[in-house]
Amino acid sequence: MLAAGTAGSRGLDVLLIEKNSTLGRKLLITGKGRCNLTNSAAEISDLIAKIPVNGKFLFSAFHAFSNHDLIEFFRDLGLETKIERGGRVFPASDRAADVVSALRKFLKLNNVRVIKGAVKRVVLQNNSISRVTLQDGRNYPCRSVVVATGGLSYPQTGSTGDGYRFARECGHTVTPLKPALVPLEVKEGWVTELQGLTLKNVAISLRDEMNKELYRDFGEMFFTHFGVSGPIILSASSYLGGNQSNNCRLVIDLKPALSAEQLDRRVQRDFHKYAGRIFVNSLSDLLPRKMIPVMVKLSGIPPDKAVSQISREERKGLVELLKNLTLEIKALRPLKEAIVTSGGVAVEEINPSTMESKIVKGLFFAGEVIDVNAYTGGFNLQIAFSTGYVAGLHC
Ligand SMILES: Cc1cc2nc3c(=O)[nH]c(=O)nc-3n(C[C@H](O)[C@H](O)[C@H](O)COP(=O)(O)OP(=O)(O)OC[C@H]3O[C@@H](n4cnc5c(N)ncnc54)[C@H](O)[C@@H]3O)c2cc1C
Repeated sequence: MLAAGTAGSRGLDVLLIEKNSTLGRKLLITGKGRCNLTNSAAEISDLIAKIPVNGKFLFSAFHAFSNHDLIEFFRDLGLETKIERGGRVFPASDRAADVVSALRKFLKLNNVRVIKGAVKRVVLQNNSISRVTLQDGRNYPCRSVVVATGGLSYPQTGSTGDGYRFARECGHTVTPLKPALVPLEVKEGWVTELQGLTLKNVAISLRDEMNKELYRDFGEMFFTHFGVSGPIILSASSYLGGNQSNNCRLVIDLKPALSAEQLDRRVQRDFHKYAGRIFVNSLSDLLPRKMIPVMVKLSGIPPDKAVSQISREERKGLVELLKNLTLEIKALRPLKEAIVTSGGVAVEEINPSTMESKIVKGLFFAGEVIDVNAYTGGFNLQIAFSTGYVAGLHC
């Protein structure tokens, strides 16, 4: 949409071909329906620092159309934004649908024709773009094509990886496609008992088999029937790389604001307060209700033991558990459940200043189809918008 509208603003005759019946279906589910459309990072280098794969390729695109330009762009279209924790930028209305409406307005203002149809092939002649062919047989002769078909995640939104095929058929290399920003499956069966439970303000540490810390973060996570998800888990998944099945562990600190000694004193106070109770009934000040049976089981302290009878050693063990609740990672969830796809059209084959293919004249790429991906925080949409803008400017 950014590419089409930008091309339209240059007076070109632009057709946007979308296979869904509505535009921006994925945008509607971004940021839990609120659309974290960019990040307020001050410098372009701050944006690039959040893009672990091929970040430098985006330098020109971010210069041409930065996060600040994007905020301005939406303001001109009547969409006010607000900044939240970690520089995350959302529409002031908290409605992703308003972002899609603003983009539709942009298309209309720039006379872009939108048609419903699934592109089947990008047809070349003498190594230049000749036309696109749709599944239903329609043909559209053209001088340029911008492939902005997204990745392979959440295919129900329309991103079924067609653009990778178009790229390959035009002679491009597509690097291996893998899930990024994805929930984690764990070996411990007890997580199912915690399904749906959100933990706020916890710290996590991702460790490899040698106990080396790969990643540390603080924030919100939740349990699912297969393991764990939520913002800090999705970010952590990016650091697993090829290590996914190599006995990595996730260590959760349930009380990161307290040192082990402080937490021990806190537990002692609770035990004093509930001295007349049994163990299982003494943890309600310390833990969410749903977590108590699981933590009691993991602590090894009999649930019906009188609190007054709990030994110093048992108490220390409980404190250790609260500070180091450990999960063994079994696997990353599949690509269709990932927030973004890692891998894509090789950046070495795309001109970073124009997004044009170095192989086929008139062929451009924008967004997730390119081999770039970022951490959470609005960076992935900024990539799509900036590369879309540049492609629209040069196609
Ligand atoms: C649940 C979820 C939440 C997310 N939240 C955020 C967030 O808050 N902030 C953020 O920065 N990123 C977020 N992302 C990532 C972000 O949505 C994507 O990186 C971004 O949408 C990629 O944009 P794109 O234009 O490249 O592809 P897409 O948004 O996937 O758009 C591609 C479009 O091309 C169409 N298409 C595909 N093939 C064809 C074809 N053959 N013919 C015609 N049309 C076709 C599709 O139907 C689709 O509409 C989230 C992703 C998910 C799954």
